[in-house]
Amino acid sequence: MDERKIIIAIDGPAGSGKSTTARCVAQHFKYVYIDTGAMYRAITFAALRFNLYPDNHEKINELLETTSISLKRNETGEQRTFVNEEDVTPHIRSKEVSENVSYFSSVSRIREAMVEIQRKLGQKGGIVMDGRDIGTVVFPNADLKIFLVASLEQRAKRRIAELPAQSIVMSFDEVVENIRQRDLLDSSRDHSPLMKASDAIEIDTSYLTIEEQTEKIIVLAENIIRRKSL
Ligand code: C5P
Repeated sequence: MDERKIIIAIDGPAGSGKSTTARCVAQHFKYVYIDTGAMYRAITFAALRFNLYPDNHEKINELLETTSISLKRNETGEQRTFVNEEDVTPHIRSKEVSENVSYFSSVSRIREAMVEIQRKLGQKGGIVMDGRDIGTVVFPNADLKIFLVASLEQRAKRRIAELPAQSIVMSFDEVVENIRQRDLLDSSRDHSPLMKASDAIEIDTSYLTIEEQTEKIIVLAENIIRRKSL
């Protein structure tokens, strides 16, 4: 492993700007960007297709044994999410998946399976990974841990702005309710809840542009990379 290729963990609640910021930071350093939320969404999509419930452990185990979740990049460098060989990217941000993902992502077996894949993807360093438990559970020794926060209103506004491009119709109130519900479930679950790691740096993105929040993280990362190069 190239010691200068660091692991950057970006956690935070829904809509705090993790994905866009993480993607920009990864582009800057020519690192690999990994959106772990897409993986939980993909397994949720697969489970819903078979009408599974999160508490049906036997069926969930079967699903995990027969399903591979992977992330691949297309020609333009965009991350696509696959269930077995099927590109499910257009489906994983649907209202149905968004309303169910936090229930499935609280299932221990599902978390263990996803974390195993995430650790393999990141073991060589040179990655920016975003999620809820990256700095606390997936890579507790990450070189740089960021915890992004933003007001509920700002987060809902950002999510609403993304919807047309994904052909998803949801009202502002529905988006607020979905974010509120997911935050509650994600931070109160027993298994690796959404939590700021004690050594994470918190950045409030409510009034920052993507460029500003990206720049803050780049500066922090460059300091760490410089120290590692000495
Ligand atoms: O990041 P995104 O909002 O797409 O994540 C969707 C859901 O996936 C979250 O609300 C959470 O329930 C789950 N998730 C998780 N752990 C992660 C990433 C996402 O539990 N590392």
